[in-house]
Amino acid sequence: MPMDVLARTAEGLGLPLNARQLQQFEEYYHQLIAANRRVSLTSITDYQEVQRRHFGESLAVGAALYQAGVLKPDKGARVLDLGAGAGFPGLPMRIVCPALRLTILEATRKKTAFLERLLARLGLEDVTVITGRAETVAYEPTHREGYDLVLARAVAPLAVLVELTLPFLKVGGFLATPKGTRAPQEIAEASRALGTCGGRIVSAEPLPSPALPLRLVLVQKIAPTPATYPRRPGIPAKRPLR
Ligand code: SAH
Repeated sequence: MPMDVLARTAEGLGLPLNARQLQQFEEYYHQLIAANRRVSLTSITDYQEVQRRHFGESLAVGAALYQAGVLKPDKGARVLDLGAGAGFPGLPMRIVCPALRLTILEATRKKTAFLERLLARLGLEDVTVITGRAETVAYEPTHREGYDLVLARAVAPLAVLVELTLPFLKVGGFLATPKGTRAPQEIAEASRALGTCGGRIVSAEPLPSPALPLRLVLVQKIAPTPATYPRRPGIPAKRPLR
């Protein structure tokens, strides 16, 4: 059976996949591998490893968000995946949860070109792809405070992510980011950024991850972010709020 590892993982997460979704993931895999020869999208190319580390881990993030009540079945939350690369974790989540209104923001044009082609092949025309940097797009009125949930995997340390992502969230919305063993240090180092940008840590629970020991760090926006954040492109990463 195609995508057998993923099918079992998804079942275990309480997100069973139908035949069309399995076929979409199979197509996603083949497009990813084909494009990866020209554009550097992933170092993980093995069929089973992609199922575990990219697709399965993305669905584990989705399952954790349903369990936490951040996402509700059939409710059309506005979701931004910031720095999605080849689409992780937002796109696998959208394949499984069609109610999500997903926008993907990615700075590298070659990666967004891949995503646009992929979305057309998968028949997911309602997903929006933006080529740009968080530091500039966050000042566009349709995006600032426009989202219920921001996802970001492997983009930046938490202190930097807080500055990049909180401007996109409505007050009351959530940032969800999977983190490895450094999660406690990253949380401690993010306290100034959280205070400045209007966030608080909600939880950092272990992810029901099929691959790696990860925690899902959940931050809630509890106050508006001052209008001067994020700072200019590159500055949040170069001089993190400490
Ligand atoms: N989330 C994906 C990709 C991680 S690599 C995954 O987990 O597989 C990080 C990606 O974030 C890169 O593609 C990079 O171009 C993008 N990125 C980094 N900083 C960014 C910023 N400030 N605005 C938009 N995209 C950014």
